[in-house]
Amino acid sequence: MKLETNYSLKNENTFHIDVSAKYFAEVFSEEDIKNMLSERRIKEIPLLIIGGGSNILFTRNFDGLVIKNSISYINVIEEDDNKIIIEAGAGVRWDDLVQYCVEKKYGGIENLSLIPGTTGAAPIQNIGAYGQELKDTLYYVKGIFIENLALKKIIKDECNFGYRDSIFKRELKGKFVITAVAVCLSKKPKVNLTYAAVNEELDKLNIKEPSIKEVSKVIRMIRETKLPNPTEIGNAGSFFKNPEISESLYLDIKNLYQDFKGYKLPNGYHKISAAWLIEKCGWKGQRFGDAGVHKDQPLVLVNFGTASGNEIRDLSLQIKESVFKKFKIELEEEVNIF
Ligand SMILES: Cc1cc2nc3c(=O)[nH]c(=O)nc-3n(C[C@H](O)[C@H](O)[C@H](O)COP(=O)(O)OP(=O)(O)OC[C@H]3O[C@@H](n4cnc5c(N)ncnc54)[C@H](O)[C@@H]3O)c2cc1C
Repeated sequence: MKLETNYSLKNENTFHIDVSAKYFAEVFSEEDIKNMLSERRIKEIPLLIIGGGSNILFTRNFDGLVIKNSISYINVIEEDDNKIIIEAGAGVRWDDLVQYCVEKKYGGIENLSLIPGTTGAAPIQNIGAYGQELKDTLYYVKGIFIENLALKKIIKDECNFGYRDSIFKRELKGKFVITAVAVCLSKKPKVNLTYAAVNEELDKLNIKEPSIKEVSKVIRMIRETKLPNPTEIGNAGSFFKNPEISESLYLDIKNLYQDFKGYKLPNGYHKISAAWLIEKCGWKGQRFGDAGVHKDQPLVLVNFGTASGNEIRDLSLQIKESVFKKFKIELEEEVNIF
């Protein structure tokens, strides 16, 4: 473990924003983290933990210590005939864990195939896609409290998971370093085919009773065609969350737009598409210098090359303002802005 100074973060965030960290260290074990957190010279300075940098927008140089979590292992903790509990180090690429489980026919996270980033960051926003969320299989999260270096295992019920939300984004934000995540998977998996797009692709391939491996493969194909690859064009996936709106607002908008759709939640609210709102405000495919809105995915803001974090941030604020003006809906960022 080496403490770097004035370290460029350009290759540490998928927006490829060219900022630097005053101090930077990559850690490979709990011991590394404890040693780094006890370093006297860095104790009083701002601290940021990162994984793959795929859910971060940097708007300035980071005047403190950035720790990149690269703790990497996959261990079986417990198993019986029906289920298996697997613990992975926070630095394991999330998709490597998914592929490991899919290959071994352990079901429950296959619909989360190809989500970028690390396993340690997965609980932070309770990653989700194609009808699965991490919370469906999460068993526990292990980590270290920054204040006193105490170790803690946080069980699923304590994580307060919600849509792209958890205790790690709220009460424990900036207080807890996640070192490992355990998931409880099924050895007799049932595939989750709640998304029409997945069924359509399986039909095209004439697959009638898909295995989790086939579902994973189809989801990878869909994602590769639908989403911009951050290695080619800087982005952090969905910039905003899909809003939840009241029944009356939903009906007002529905009256005006035939193509407006929503999904009614048990609490009576409707989850609607942020991409639809952004497109209706005319942002799809717009480009301002090197900052822009993706031509196919209006929810994805992109850096075509040398955009600054502030240019992307300004664009996001303009989008928010126009959506609010037109629909009276406040978009909320999914990306973490620093
Ligand atoms: C093309 C693309 C597609 C995407 N698709 C999806 C999707 O379908 N569903 C979805 O949910 N997300 C999606 N994302 C968002 C992103 O992949 C996830 O949020 C992912 O979990 C972020 O992981 P990361 O390691 O890159 O986290 P980072 O971006 O490095 O960090 C994200 C946040 O977590 C904190 N953090 C990271 N690691 C730790 C740790 N070990 N301990 C404490 N705090 C930590 C950081 O401080 C930061 O606040 C997508 C992103 C991209 C670029």
